[in-house]
Formats: sequence, structure tokens, C-alpha cells
Amino acid sequence: MTKPVNTEYGPLAPPKRLLMGPGPTVVEPRIYGAMAMPIVSHVDAYFFEVAEDIRKMLQVAFGTENAFTMAVSGTGSAGMEAAVANVTEPGMKFAVLANGYFSDRMEEMARRQGAQIVRLEKAWGTVFSGEEAREFIHREKPHVVGYVQAETSTGAFQRGNTICEAAREVDALTIADCVTSLAGMPVRVDETGVDVAYSGTQKALSCPPGLAPITLSARALDRVRSRKSILPTWYLDLRLLDSYYGESKRYHHTAPISLFYALREALRIVMEEGLENRWRRHYVNHKAFVAAAAALGMTMHVAGEDQLWTLHTPVLPAGMSDTQLRSFLLREHGIEVLGGFGPLQGKVLRIGLMGASSTVENIEKLLAGLVEGFAEQGFRAPGDPLAAARAVWANPPASPEL
Ligand SMILES: *Cc1c(COP(=O)(O)O)cnc(C)c1O
Repeated sequence: MTKPVNTEYGPLAPPKRLLMGPGPTVVEPRIYGAMAMPIVSHVDAYFFEVAEDIRKMLQVAFGTENAFTMAVSGTGSAGMEAAVANVTEPGMKFAVLANGYFSDRMEEMARRQGAQIVRLEKAWGTVFSGEEAREFIHREKPHVVGYVQAETSTGAFQRGNTICEAAREVDALTIADCVTSLAGMPVRVDETGVDVAYSGTQKALSCPPGLAPITLSARALDRVRSRKSILPTWYLDLRLLDSYYGESKRYHHTAPISLFYALREALRIVMEEGLENRWRRHYVNHKAFVAAAAALGMTMHVAGEDQLWTLHTPVLPAGMSDTQLRSFLLREHGIEVLGGFGPLQGKVLRIGLMGASSTVENIEKLLAGLVEGFAEQGFRAPGDPLAAARAVWANPPASPEL
């Protein structure tokens, strides 16, 4: 006799969350719909059509004409590891522009590939000037230069034009981490001159985590194709992945079909909105949030022109408990924001306004929650944060050139 079905485990019942932290972000309902579609196999002609649509839309989002553009299976860190591993060989000099947690992660990955690491370091929340980067790159003459365009641990945007120009002058490749910028603010891979850029699906694309968009310039591809040593990773070998997604369609691994459906739908939503309109929405909501934060008595950790539009690091008022505030928001409003870590532990909040979370409605909910959370700890806002945000929405400033 078989036993009755085990009823110890009920059906899934995830709590309702408004995800306004550094990622994952609110998922567009249409994307859940796409993920519920029946899968085909990973070698079905339909799957390759989906992959091809993704390639074309990613080219637009990245701002590139690179033919080598695809989604790697795995989260943003898989994109980072694919980028670092494929262009790095043992003994190469890998230069890191280190100003936050994710540049340190890139450095760790390069070290594991046997690279010799050189670092130019700056405080978390600051960025490198063109001159600082150029002097460092000319002095070190590395093979690879890695930097983080959108540093989610600090909220800072690193401009890349001079970095990429200086790198080309010494024949180095550049890797840019665009995980928190893609589809939220200008990435402009070709215009900037980036050789390898990668991202993740769960930040401004508003998709569940699981795929890592990546793009490689012809220069970078040459480097990959002329490697002298065997790439120690098989799963993230971009040449093998290219022969799977490219012409020959040679089986490599079983691609996560449902996630490809999700990314295709996410990119379709980006194209419908229009990339520039989407950047504009993120910029205006960013400015509205900054104005509201000031009315709450918070300054921003990052200087104005270097702030991300997607991830915000307001400085907590002296004496306020970051953990108490965050648990209040989660308990009373179902809103998730995160705090700072590393050197910013206990000092800042990390508030993501990315993709589907960057809306007037969500920001108003968040601000109402913050006012209450401040009051719970005996803090009174010096101004009216909702009015401050609404003033920006009523009369939005022009977007800066990035
Ligand atoms: C989130 C993030 C990553 C890592 O992405 P995972 O999806 O967590 O693997 C890498 N770089 C930056 C800048 C990020 O914000």
C-alpha cells in the first residue's frame, strides 16, 4: 500500500514584497506570464529565434553593434566571471579601479585566473577622474582594466570614456560591470569604447535573476580566440557558447528556456517604452527621490553628478538605526530596502529605483513608509518629502549628458 500524499508542505505562498533594494527588483507582471509559457527544447528552432531576438534587443540596450552579444546562463556574477576568465590568462596584469564591493569581486575573480593584480583605490562612493585613471593605466600598462560603471554597493556612476581610451593606448582590454545600469541609465558600450560589458537580469531589467547579458568587442574576441592557455572554465567558455548560440548551434548546455522567455519579454518592454524614455523616467524619479531625501533630513553619500539613477545611498540621520528602520518598512509596508555594508555599514540605506520599481506610486509608498519609520525612532522630517518629490515631478529637470 502506498501512503497518502505528504501534506506537510503546503503550496508556495511567498509574502507580498515591494522590492526597492539593490536587486532583485519588482518583476513586471508580463514577465511572469512569459515564464509560464510552455517550454520548447534548447535546440528547438523556436528557442534559437528567442535567443536571436534577445541578441538584437540587447545590442540596443547595451548601445553596441557587437555581433558577440548574448545572455549567459547564471546571475550577474556569472557574467562577471565569463568576462574576466575569457580575457585573462595566468601572469597577465589585471588593473582594477577599486572603489566598491563589486570591483573587489572582479579582482578576486582575476586573481583566481592567475593574473597579477594592480589596484588604484578610492573611497567607497567616489569615482575616478579621467586623469587619475589615465595616469594609472599608462604607468602600469596592464593587459586588462576592470571597472564598475554602476557600483551598487555605493551608488556611484563611473564614467568610462577616458579609461577606455587610455586602455587602448597601452593595448589593454576594458571590462565594465553594467549590472545596475543596463536599461536604467546610459550604458553606451560602443561610444564609451568598452571591450567587454556584462549585466544581470534582476536589476533595471526587472526580470527574475538567472541570466547575465554580455557583449564583446572584436578586439576582445581576438584576445579570446588567440589565448595561449586553456580556459579553466568549461561552462563559461564564450567560444563554446558562441558555437551554441551562433551559426553552428552545437549543443553546449540546456539553456534555461523560461528565463530566456522572461528576458525576451523584459527587453520587449524596454523597447516598447523606448530606451531613452526609460532612462528619462529613471532620471526624473531619481531626482524626485533625492529631493525627498533632503526633506527627510538626509544628504546623499555620493556627489550629485556621480549619483546612479538606479541605486541611492542616502546617509542616515545621526542616531538612527538602519536595521530598525528597515524592519519597520518590511513589517508595516512590505517594502524591502537594504542598508550599507563594508565601510558604509550602518551609515547609509541602499534604495533601488530600477525598472518596474521606479514609479511615482512606489516612490510615494516608500516615502510615506520612511516618514513613519523615522517617527517610530523619534525623528521628525525637517521638510515635506512627498511635496518635495511632487515638485520635481511637476517640473522635472533636463537629463544630463552621460
Ligand atoms: C548585483 C550585482 C552583481 C552580481 O550579480 P548577481 O546577480 O548577484 O550575481 C555584480 N555587479 C554589480 C554592480 C551588481 O550590482
